[in-house]
Amino acid sequence: MKAVTYHGVGDFRVTEQPKPELTGPNDALVRITLGSICGSDLHIYHGHTPIDEGALIGHEMVGVVEAVGPEVRDVRPGDRVVAPFFTACGGCYQCRRGWYSQCEERAIFGHGTFFGGLGGAQAEYCVVPRADLNLARIPDGVDDEQAIFVGDILSTGYFAAERGQIRPGDTVAVIGAGPVGLMAVMCAQLFGPARVLCVDMVDSRLEVAGDLGAVPLDSRVTNPVVEIQSYTGGVGADVALECVGRIAAIETAINSVRGGGTVSSVGVPSAINGDFPYFDAWNRDLTFRAGWTNVHPYMRPLLDLIAAGRLHPERVISHRMRLDDAVVAYRMFDQKEATKIVLRP
Ligand SMILES: [Zn+2]
Ligand SMILES: [Zn+2]
Repeated sequence: MKAVTYHGVGDFRVTEQPKPELTGPNDALVRITLGSICGSDLHIYHGHTPIDEGALIGHEMVGVVEAVGPEVRDVRPGDRVVAPFFTACGGCYQCRRGWYSQCEERAIFGHGTFFGGLGGAQAEYCVVPRADLNLARIPDGVDDEQAIFVGDILSTGYFAAERGQIRPGDTVAVIGAGPVGLMAVMCAQLFGPARVLCVDMVDSRLEVAGDLGAVPLDSRVTNPVVEIQSYTGGVGADVALECVGRIAAIETAINSVRGGGTVSSVGVPSAINGDFPYFDAWNRDLTFRAGWTNVHPYMRPLLDLIAAGRLHPERVISHRMRLDDAVVAYRMFDQKEATKIVLRP
């Protein structure tokens, strides 16, 4: 089968790999019908993630179950499924409390042996362990492009919004309009805010944020903190959702909220070139939450919201390309020429 593999910093290739096989009684073999490129793949691309040469890449996938092990009860061959970007065991202390993202045996697709040695989603096939836990069936009427982000960026946007504790009538500031920020814009609106403001500095992203119902704020031409204050009688937003992962973005988020407000951060930390503004958080009675999303509990409700027409995650897709063209796709995504690229094997 074809798959995207890692061969050094900035060197991803489409290579021929052996078709994976079921190894455990709880596994499912999934024929991938759509994969996509995530911002965290760029962390690998730039050498910021420990990974072995030849590792398979990609962790956002939908597909059709081709075979299952003898102990798989729920998913069946022929089922259309979406996978979370990481797998959990279902039996450890954290899993039994529903906190799958902190599973003691957590493994991440497309991240090499250091993160559990799973296969990749930018490929034709992938084996999913403990398939009953780590796959969700896609409802009829929800297509691949609508379902794929449930396993990663849509859950992340929802996690950010939920942990922001948005209340009806609130003003929400979303910092960063990359794919996760755009998902946060969509998910924030499920909680009934009066307005959602979205800060970025890329025209195409700001345009999508506006289309999704946010007020776009271009930080190249305005001071976003001052702008956010101007919408709220000078006090600041009730909630900020930080979707970038840099200290500068966390500072913007903290400066954007009113005293007593909440900052919910989901950006993958990178370029940690500064200190967390602890004094501000303390002095202004802020609530700060951070984390990568606990995907599993969100998959079913998010699929239902999509099926009901209340979420449209496919609207962030800017480019539809072939898996064969992944090298070009990565170059475009890295240069911010594409908001979100899906790859069809
Ligand atoms: Zn991701
Ligand atoms: Zn576990």
